[in-house]
Formats: sequence, structure tokens, C-alpha cells
Amino acid sequence: MSLPDFKLLRPRSIQVALDSLSHHTGNVRVLAGGTDLIPSMRQKLFEPEYVLDLRGITALRGIKPQPEGGVEIGALTTLRAIERSDFLRQHYPVLTEAAANVASPVLRNMGTIGGNICLDTRCLWYNQSLTWRKGCGFCIKKDGDLCHVAPGGTKCWAVFSGDTPPALLCLNAEIEIASASGTRRLPLRDFYTGLGDDYRKLQPNELVTRVFLPAASADYHGVYRKLRVRGSIDYPLAGVAVVMKRSPNGNSGGHVADVRIAITAVNPAPLLVNGASELLAGKAVDQTLAEAAGDLAAKICKPLTTSALTPEYRREMIRVFTKRAVLAAAQIADRN
Ligand SMILES: Cc1cc2nc3c(=O)[nH]c(=O)nc-3n(C[C@H](O)[C@H](O)[C@H](O)COP(=O)(O)OP(=O)(O)OC[C@H]3O[C@@H](n4cnc5c(N)ncnc54)[C@H](O)[C@@H]3O)c2cc1C
Ligand code: SF4
Repeated sequence: MSLPDFKLLRPRSIQVALDSLSHHTGNVRVLAGGTDLIPSMRQKLFEPEYVLDLRGITALRGIKPQPEGGVEIGALTTLRAIERSDFLRQHYPVLTEAAANVASPVLRNMGTIGGNICLDTRCLWYNQSLTWRKGCGFCIKKDGDLCHVAPGGTKCWAVFSGDTPPALLCLNAEIEIASASGTRRLPLRDFYTGLGDDYRKLQPNELVTRVFLPAASADYHGVYRKLRVRGSIDYPLAGVAVVMKRSPNGNSGGHVADVRIAITAVNPAPLLVNGASELLAGKAVDQTLAEAAGDLAAKICKPLTTSALTPEYRREMIRVFTKRAVLAAAQIADRN
């Protein structure tokens, strides 16, 4: 599968990149690490006239703790840099664990946090060569008008399969989005549409430039659990992130003060599990409570036959992983 022809643009500053994007809007794709974009271009899922390579823009890299608390992460920061950051491991451990679970070391050296957030949704019928897709009559997400997964429907159910967004959702992350006409800041939970085809709220002339983690989310104990076919180099087929804060010692010592749970790879968007904190706060975590958290998470999964594993199995693994992750987070809290 050869790459289609394209012209490569290599800006050295954010402003030049934004000007290029607005100049070539509709005809250009952004390349960060390229670990998802390049295979997709080989499959002719994208055939842009221009590819805008962000890798020369040093201002988009780096993990910068803020004087007032919290941290700013450049969109071009590699997953490897996140995985290895002592600061993030100490204050936002769920993010380093999720980053360490992406693909393989080689891909994490190339892949970026911005690319992971903007990752295209995936489906068995979509992530295939042009010949393969043509043989099946294409589908709604690309070049066709029917869905093989939910025949008769008009919606695409391709699945968001990034590992770090559920961790970022648990941390109440915000992202900065820039275009030639200015910047806007958006809670990550508002970035995804829930549609498999038009999956993110990003205009063709916009770039994700920075990720912000608030001071208020620092020092939560965190756990990420992931289902994949192979132990390495595989996208998640179900993923759960949990962060937990315990009450300070006293009458409620050992009890949960706050907990957030988010899931990935079972819907067209990564999702926060509503009601998790109401369920667990003020209580001591035990098997029954952890199981109830698993039931809550499983309720919002809508996996369909978009991958080789059955929807039932993936939903059940969300239930099991949530339970295990809640128990593991509580155990970590007990040790600290
Ligand atoms: C074999 C294999 C296994 C993989 N396994 C996993 C896995 O386990 N978990 C996982 O999460 N991912 C996995 N991936 C996907 C990918 O490696 C990661 O998601 C990675 O973080 C993507 O980042 P990137 O910088 O390489 O993105 P790119 O490929 O450069 O870009 C991905 C998409 O985001 C857009 N984009 C990138 N940066 C920006 C930006 N700053 N602003 C606007 N748009 C942007 C691009 O235009 C493109 O549409 C895998 C990929 C491969 C090939
Ligand atoms: S869910 Fe349906 S429309 Fe979407 S990629 Fe899969 S087959 Fe295509």
C-alpha cells in the first residue's frame, strides 16, 4: 500500500502552521507523530493535497508545571515523554500509566498527546485497504452510504480507541484550540461529538495546541486498565481509567472523598461515567461497592461489532476492569 502523492509543508512556528491551515483548508491534513495518519493515508482513507508536518514547531513540545499549580502539556509532546515524566508520575499518575499502555515503545517515541486526543475513530470495516473497502461497497464513514455494523441505520458507530483521553477526562483536562483568528479553550469532555464519522469538534483550519491539567486534579491516585488482543502494539478494545482521592484521616479516614471513572474503546467517544462519585464518596471501598461501580460503567457502553471481539465481551470487560481498577486505586490510597 503506497502513500498517495502529497506536498509536505514544514512550518517552524505555530503562526505559520495556522496560516497554512487556513490557506489550504479542506486540502490539508495535520501530521504530528504520523503513527495513525500515515497508515491511514496508505489505506487511502485520506488523500490530502498537502500534509502539514508539525514536528519542527518546538513551541508545541514540553511539560510545563505552572507556578499557580497544574501543568501545561504541548500537543506535540510524545507519549514517551509523558510516560517518563517524574512530575506527571508523581502528580497525575493515571496519565503516565495510560500513556505507557499505548501501542509499543517505538510508537510512543513518535506518537504525541495531541495525536492521541485527535485520533480517528476505528472500525473493522473502515481500517482496511481501498481494495478491501471497495469489495464491501464502502460505508458511511468513507465513500459509502450504508453501515455494515448497524445495517439500516444512518449513524456511524466507529469507536474512539485512544488510551490517554479517558485518563485526561478523569483529570478534568482542558485543551487549547488555535486557528489563524485566535484561540479557544475547551474542556476535553466537550471535544467529542459521540458520532463515529464526524467525531471531534475541530474545524479544518484549527489545531490542538496545548493540554491543561488543573491543580485541583493533582495527587489523585490513578489506575488505567486496558483490554487488547496482544499484550503490546494493540489499540484498546475496552479501557477504564479511575482516579480517587481519600478523605484525610479522622472519622472518615479510609473513605473515598472523590472518584472519577472514564471509559474508552466502547463508544464513538471516550466518556466520563456520571454518578461515580455520588456512588462511592463517603464510603469505604469493598467488593460490593466496586462491583456497583462496574455496573454503572457497563451501563453507558454501546459496543457494536466494530472489532474482532464481541460487543458482549467488551462490555463485560468494562464491568470487570472498572471493579478491579476501583479496588486497585483504593489499595494504592491505603498504602500512601
Ligand atoms: C500498530 C499501532 C498500534 C497502535 N496502538 C495504539 C494504542 O494502543 N493506543 C492508542 O491510543 N493509540 C494507538 N495507536 C495509534 C497512535 O499510535 C496513537 O494514538 C498516537 O498517539 C497518535 O499520535 P500521532 O502524533 O502519531 O498522531 P498522527 O498520526 O500524527 O495524527 C492522528 C490524527 O490526529 C490529527 N492531529 C494530530 N495532532 C494534531 C493536533 N495537534 N491538532 C489537530 N489535529 C491533530 C491528525 O491530523 C490525524 O488525524 C496505534 C497505532 C499503530 C500503528
Ligand atoms: S460503524 Fe458502520 S459506518 Fe462506521 S465505519 Fe463501521 S461500517 Fe462504516
